[in-house]
Amino acid sequence: MTSFKKSGMYILSSPSGAGKTTLVKKISKNKNFSVSISHTTRLPRPNEKNGKDYFFTSKNNFKKLIKKGEFLEHAKVFSNYYGSSKKKVISNLNKGKNVIFDIDWQGTRQIRNKRLKYKLLTIYILPPSKKELINRLIKREKKNMKTVKKRMKEFKKDLSKWKEYDLVVINDDLKKCYARIMKVIKNKQKENLYDYEYIKNHVKRLNI
Ligand code: ADP
Ligand code: 5GP
Repeated sequence: MTSFKKSGMYILSSPSGAGKTTLVKKISKNKNFSVSISHTTRLPRPNEKNGKDYFFTSKNNFKKLIKKGEFLEHAKVFSNYYGSSKKKVISNLNKGKNVIFDIDWQGTRQIRNKRLKYKLLTIYILPPSKKELINRLIKREKKNMKTVKKRMKEFKKDLSKWKEYDLVVINDDLKKCYARIMKVIKNKQKENLYDYEYIKNHVKRLNI
């Protein structure tokens, strides 16, 4: 697959269930891309593996890691803690690798504010509709409606952050969404990364 010369950080955020983890996995299959595997205090889903999807850890250990300054950023999301490992990210970037993050808007703000010397592109993923988002969450959470409701409670707040991102994409057809993101990552589209008015109207409809 395609290889990229300049190392950079690529952050994907979205309301829960819009498809960022799916997209991150797809992007990471490109040569010279590595995913920043986060630490989390949440419990693993049935298909998730420690060290592959996340480093699952206790709240106590997570707090120790914060104290030791191990995180590039960390945040509390849906009553659990999540954080990106500083050492791994910086070492991969210095090796010339691109690092891709699946993190929320709080972590994105922290990384943006650090103004690191590496290229940074922030990407916000929107669902095609609220109904489809709920369906995706129900499917992923195996009909655990308590979790679905908890995630949807944060929907409007998460959604309100889209303007903070460089590129905003609707994940309707996965292949098309992936292709749009890759076009920008490969630097084949450098300006007017998205249609602001179109996205603004889409967000308005999602907010109803
Ligand atoms: P997020 O990481 O944003 O919370 P996920 O990547 O876990 O979301 O996706 C939520 C669910 O939606 C998963 O079951 C995934 O397979 C599915 N999904 C992702 N993208 C699409 C798409 N374009 N069309 C249909 N289902 C999708
Ligand atoms: P999930 O529990 O569905 O895997 O993730 C919940 C939310 O936490 C998502 O918005 C995801 O992007 C975010 N998240 C995952 N890892 C990190 C991280 O290391 N830092 C921050 N700030 N958010 C994260």
